[in-house]
Amino acid sequence: MSLKPPKLTDDCFALPRGVTWIPVNEALDRLKKSLHPITEIEKISTNIAEGRILALSPIATRSSPPMTNSAVDGFGFAHSCIKSGPQILPLTKGIAAAGLPYEGTVKLGSAIKILTGAILPQGVDTVILSEDTNIDNDIVAFNGPLKLGSNTRLKGEDIPKGNKVIDAGLPIRSTEIGLLNSVGVFSISVYKKLKVGILSTGNEIIYNSQSPPLPHQIFDANKPMLLPIIRKWGFEAIDLGHVDDNEQTLLKKLISASEKVDVIITSGGASAGQEDYISKVLNKYGSISSWRVAIKPGRPIAMGIFKGTPIFGLPGNPVAAFVCSVIFARPALYCLSGAGWVEPQKFLVPANFTKQKKPGRRELLRANLNQDNLVNIFKSEGSGRISGLSWANGLVDLPSELTTVSRGELVTFIPYSSFGI
Ligand code: AMP
Ligand code: MG
Repeated sequence: MSLKPPKLTDDCFALPRGVTWIPVNEALDRLKKSLHPITEIEKISTNIAEGRILALSPIATRSSPPMTNSAVDGFGFAHSCIKSGPQILPLTKGIAAAGLPYEGTVKLGSAIKILTGAILPQGVDTVILSEDTNIDNDIVAFNGPLKLGSNTRLKGEDIPKGNKVIDAGLPIRSTEIGLLNSVGVFSISVYKKLKVGILSTGNEIIYNSQSPPLPHQIFDANKPMLLPIIRKWGFEAIDLGHVDDNEQTLLKKLISASEKVDVIITSGGASAGQEDYISKVLNKYGSISSWRVAIKPGRPIAMGIFKGTPIFGLPGNPVAAFVCSVIFARPALYCLSGAGWVEPQKFLVPANFTKQKKPGRRELLRANLNQDNLVNIFKSEGSGRISGLSWANGLVDLPSELTTVSRGELVTFIPYSSFGI
């Protein structure tokens, strides 16, 4: 089965006229509304599906458990012959074990030895735990009363045959693989992995150069950082290399990239400056909307469509590129991949710092939550200070209208793990 969903429309990122600075939540809402899954659906073996996004809800082909069985090692009997107080029952010869069912019928008033996982034999509906019994030759003694069905697991109590096992849109984890196997679902329909191409731009950028770098050159930090992030999110990360600030080379690169990937993420050159070719080329040959989001760090985030392929133009500064990736690109890519919108899990923790801030924009600060559950922020807010990203283990998220943080005040902390990195 191969089902191709529709492409995004050219105007899907367009903002209404007159919109200048958009609050982060509004920007995220707009993204949420304009994006839908863009990859095809394929059927694959359940056991190799870890990290893939379920496209269709699978149906249980078998009940789990398939038959009512014993949850413990003990003795099984009919509940109707048990009263309160001491009970003495004769033992039926034989045993019921997992994989070795007892084929006979246990007479009313008798008991049989039964092991964990064994199907309840005919005449048995209740089990007493071995440790709660005394055995003498072929007699078992224990104290009643017992609830009907004690220590048993009912047929289909986890999932009955014919029921939906999990919802479409969920990423498959090892736990889902176990669950699906338990109900006999050995192949599932998943979205094809989203192919995300990463491109660095800028005349000054070099990558792992053999020759000594010239004074005006800097090593590419963004692409090597973004590629593993994309992989960690479960997408296929494709290295699109690097282009200089030049209209024709960028155009050629975007043409070839749009033929082989589902989404393009660029860094650098996204503003409206003289050397900012992402916006120039998209304006001329595709569509682009520069979203001036009220967030620090992060300048306008350029979002556009080039030959049907969505493009996210991240700022060049590594810290801004990182923050825009986890805040905007992550949920957007998840939507495009079929997984739906994702929100990072946030925690309130006491600030081990003080801060003054301008109202009117949300700030995301490189932050480190220590062993004592206190959060510190990086000594500099410079957007090029990538060492702060490495020092941090998460971001402190200060709301737009906040102006001061005092020591001990509770602030929102988002660990890197909440961003899936
Ligand atoms: P731009 O967004 O192109 O104006 O770049 C903003 C800043 O980020 C400049 O100082 C660039 O040199 C720097 N920059 C751009 N791309 C990268 C990159 N891939 N790695 C490290 N720094 C970069
Ligand atoms: Mg540049």
